[in-house]
Amino acid sequence: MHQLLPETGRRARPAARLNILRIVWNVLVVGAIMATLFTTWTPLGLIPFGLTEQLAGLFNAEEQANPLVFPTATPRPRPRLGIVAGHYQNDSGAQCADGLTEADLNLEIATQVRDLLIGEGFDVDLLSEFDDRLQGYRALALVSIHADTCDFISNDATGYKIAPALGTFFPEKANRLVACLRSRYETATGLPFHAGSITRDMTNYHAFDEIHNETTAVIIETGFMNLDRQILTQGQAKVAQGIAAGILCYLYNEDASQ
Ligand SMILES: [Zn+2]
Repeated sequence: MHQLLPETGRRARPAARLNILRIVWNVLVVGAIMATLFTTWTPLGLIPFGLTEQLAGLFNAEEQANPLVFPTATPRPRPRLGIVAGHYQNDSGAQCADGLTEADLNLEIATQVRDLLIGEGFDVDLLSEFDDRLQGYRALALVSIHADTCDFISNDATGYKIAPALGTFFPEKANRLVACLRSRYETATGLPFHAGSITRDMTNYHAFDEIHNETTAVIIETGFMNLDRQILTQGQAKVAQGIAAGILCYLYNEDASQ
């Protein structure tokens, strides 16, 4: 048999404690959401997705009968990046006499770059050379990864090259991505910039015409498979790190001159 509580002033006390708990809980939840959103998004200069809706939802919940039930925050889309593994699923690209192919090298490096950027909180598409998704592709940035010939050309045939997609709406952004990649890639790999051999294949790269015209894009030749073979095959972590750091430099508006 249930015993009713006596009619005394004590009845109000559990409700008062509940109100305090509700206030403390709300402050913690709002604080956590604000901290998460601002640390994740502010450096990108993007408007926190659904922030106002989430806060409004919280305060609406406050008025509902059961104060301990809050709506689950709607998962927000993460910023997207695209990495093209050059020649992947199309052809071998440059080839060495011992069977090493540019396509295999590009895929290994592109995969590491993707994983590094996923680790930084981005959604990253690993794209093949003529990926269907490239048509109208929208992302904060697209980087196509290639490597240069395995033939010995001269002692000067060493280093990396980068060319921007200048036909987009914001060519200055593509130039900034190049500056960031140059800075971070050189630091990570020690390779020199080989400006003299940027070809029309790079500046007129097919994907530049396929992607959405607001997508910032560049193509990088990570090095020559002949003289730079050692770092391209055994120092891939540095190569991938340099590319990922260059993309992050661009996204976070870091100083590209450092
Ligand atoms: Zn290539």
